Amino acid sequence: MTRDDDIVPVTPLPPRGLLPGRPAADLPSSVPYRFFAVAGHRLVAGAAVSPEEVVEPDLPPMREAVERALGGAELRDERALDRVRAALSAHRLPPSTLPGGLERFEPSGVFARPPQDLPALLRLADQLESLAQVEGGERALVWKCSQCGTRYAVPVALARPVVIPCERCGTAVDLHPDHRVGEESLLDPFSGAVNTARRELADFFREAMARGYTVLVSTPGG
Ligand SMILES: [Zn+2]
Repeated sequence: MTRDDDIVPVTPLPPRGLLPGRPAADLPSSVPYRFFAVAGHRLVAGAAVSPEEVVEPDLPPMREAVERALGGAELRDERALDRVRAALSAHRLPPSTLPGGLERFEPSGVFARPPQDLPALLRLADQLESLAQVEGGERALVWKCSQCGTRYAVPVALARPVVIPCERCGTAVDLHPDHRVGEESLLDPFSGAVNTARRELADFFREAMARGYTVLVSTPGG
């Protein structure tokens, strides 16, 4: 048995930068989706809607992350993503039909409407939460080189008490669990954004349902 057999493969973690917070106009590929919910009667009343009457999830400004978040989830036997696309095409509201206070959501279309869609919306929220739990569940133990600060992460299931030379400076790094500096999710920043979107959407759908609001989706500027 060679010494190599005992070495746990470790990978330095990418820098934990914040998610892109660029304004929508700077996004390279496509305009992000924006969900919002408002009482159905307020959509037709004509009078301006105040901010307190609108519910909105805090989604990452990346269309790809929201598409991935909804992937694998369904609303009334239809893929949730197909439903989003239908809302923005076939079921798109005519221009300038949103009341005052909602101009920032033009153009938009109806994603789900109470009361007929309420049970399906709750199931969708449950699906999104389960997907987030499954994908966010895998965790890693984290160590830091005492000399240069390089971080090493090993999935919990693979962690062994071994000593490795730091890839950057050669200092011995003791991967004993007692010497770890922390634990973290193994998700990369994009997957983390996907999971954030799932949780935000699940909370948002539940809140909209509790209020009996109509759920709409928009692609401002799209
Ligand atoms: Zn080092």
